Amino acid sequence: MIITEINTHILYHELETPFQSSFSTFAARHHCLVEIVCDDGTIGWGECLGPADINAATVKSMASMIIGRNPLDIEPIWLDTYNQFRDQGQRGPIHTALSGIDIALWDIAGKHYNAPIYQLMGGAYRTEIPAYATGGFKPVGADHAKACVEEMTACVKDGFKAVKIKIGFGVNADIATIKAVRNAIGADIALMIDANHGYDVIDATAIGRRAAEFNIEWFEEPVIPEALTSYTDLRHNQPIPIAGGETWHGRYANEEALKQNCVDILQPDVCGVGGLSEARKLITLCEVHHVRLVPHVWGTAVALAAGLHFHAIIPPSPPSHNQRSPLLEFDRTYNPFRQAIVKAPIEHKNGIVSVPNGPGLGIEIDRDALKQFAPI
Ligand SMILES: [Mg+2]
Repeated sequence: MIITEINTHILYHELETPFQSSFSTFAARHHCLVEIVCDDGTIGWGECLGPADINAATVKSMASMIIGRNPLDIEPIWLDTYNQFRDQGQRGPIHTALSGIDIALWDIAGKHYNAPIYQLMGGAYRTEIPAYATGGFKPVGADHAKACVEEMTACVKDGFKAVKIKIGFGVNADIATIKAVRNAIGADIALMIDANHGYDVIDATAIGRRAAEFNIEWFEEPVIPEALTSYTDLRHNQPIPIAGGETWHGRYANEEALKQNCVDILQPDVCGVGGLSEARKLITLCEVHHVRLVPHVWGTAVALAAGLHFHAIIPPSPPSHNQRSPLLEFDRTYNPFRQAIVKAPIEHKNGIVSVPNGPGLGIEIDRDALKQFAPI
């Protein structure tokens, strides 16, 4: 079997109601899928985290490294491609593009061996993953606290036992939002806060100290990802567990953050960190650094499927009668193509999501939906 084609598919939808994180305004949803075709007709799918057009261009620039090779040589293809680009690519689009390629190669391997990816990667510790609802962005022009309360109340009603809201809109405003959401969802629902690196260490410390009384499960990306010493300071300056890592691409960036004791919880994204191959290596890094691993997930059903296979293979740490599963990030913000591009949507039931058990990623792409959501 050899690889004959690599195609990218950009999906795009302009939002009727744009929404904001601490620094970004989302006016559209856009994602890049990777399709790898083999000479025997086997096709694999992957997805890249981040700006779709940059990812598509970067995947295309890697095609000559990959076409003509055996798709089952996943690790050699990864290393050869990364090495070709590493001088300018230790972080960013080289990793996100390579992620999409790597996931597509694992999808091909699963189809070739007629096994789900989690089985090929050593087997599942679990195939039912408890999910948390991600949302709580600020709709442009709306009252953030009010919007968060409405959205998170609906998520709890829908069966989620854990929810995450966005902060980074000013210390006093954020504390008011957190308080309103905690009051609305009650004491038994886990609540996480995500600043999308919208604070410096002074304001993040203030948020952590003042939000702690509302029983916060973790404080995500409090400061910019380059500020490793600020991350470390925050673990000592305030009481909430610190989470981060969705932009620390590759094993080296993650190792540096772990060595500096930056986080209580590491959050790699399989579509950004370098794919399933690289994500698997971080399991060992987290184990030896005694850090909890709770992956980041943001994208379409392809990203969700890849994320689910990764969640399945993360060992309980430590194994016990009461062992915890890493929570699955389940985006509840509006995205009309997220599930439309697969024939069987990946949905939650009462806040639990099943890992697809078909060959490879275990999903089937709907090509009509790809056309429907292609940019004009
Ligand atoms: Mg985040």
